[in-house]
Amino acid sequence: MGERLIVSPDIIKKALNEYGGQAPEWNFREEKVDIDRTAQVLKNELIDPVLLLHRQRMPDPIIGFDDPGNQNVLAFYRKIPNAHGHPNEIIMSTSQTIKQEGRMMWEYGLWSRDEVTAHEMGHGLLNFLAKVENKEIPAHGKRFCELLEGWGLHPTPNHGAHYQGADADSPFGRIEKSLGHKRPEDVPRDSSKPVKTDWWKPEKTKGRSTLTGWICPEWPLTK
Ligand SMILES: [Zn+2]
Repeated sequence: MGERLIVSPDIIKKALNEYGGQAPEWNFREEKVDIDRTAQVLKNELIDPVLLLHRQRMPDPIIGFDDPGNQNVLAFYRKIPNAHGHPNEIIMSTSQTIKQEGRMMWEYGLWSRDEVTAHEMGHGLLNFLAKVENKEIPAHGKRFCELLEGWGLHPTPNHGAHYQGADADSPFGRIEKSLGHKRPEDVPRDSSKPVKTDWWKPEKTKGRSTLTGWICPEWPLTK
């Protein structure tokens, strides 16, 4: 902190977002515009709405698409700067998108996509607060789960998967209603695998080191 940047991250983010929304030969551009817009609504109305005296508001994320190499992963929040040095990157998994109406769209619908976005932005908020408070905050720990439960989302402790869809009558549910996004009956499940019922004894998630980022399976694709 304290260094003077010639080009601020906010200017780069604005340029990247504008470019991504128009990028030629990129099938995700419309989806990115939609998610960026939703992320602004979520930040302003739910995640970090108020300007406080003792800290700045959380930074906006840079949202992109890539294949995390694991079909169970829906999205990825990078705790450290990405390959180009930009902080606060959220990657949505390309393996969870399908082509509809001539563009790539989130396979499980807009409500599900926004749950993923809110979940990843929750990581963004806690990563930001960890720096403000100068301490580690575990990825899917108690504080994260309590934060998301307060919004109406239901993450599984230590694992991250949402064990049921967000409540219709909740802060998140009311935002979704205002956006015209229909609530699904339940989270999508892999029918070839048994449904795990006791989420309060979570298994340790295997995968990428939490030093670089937090991987987020969002629903019970159980082993
Ligand atoms: Zn997560």
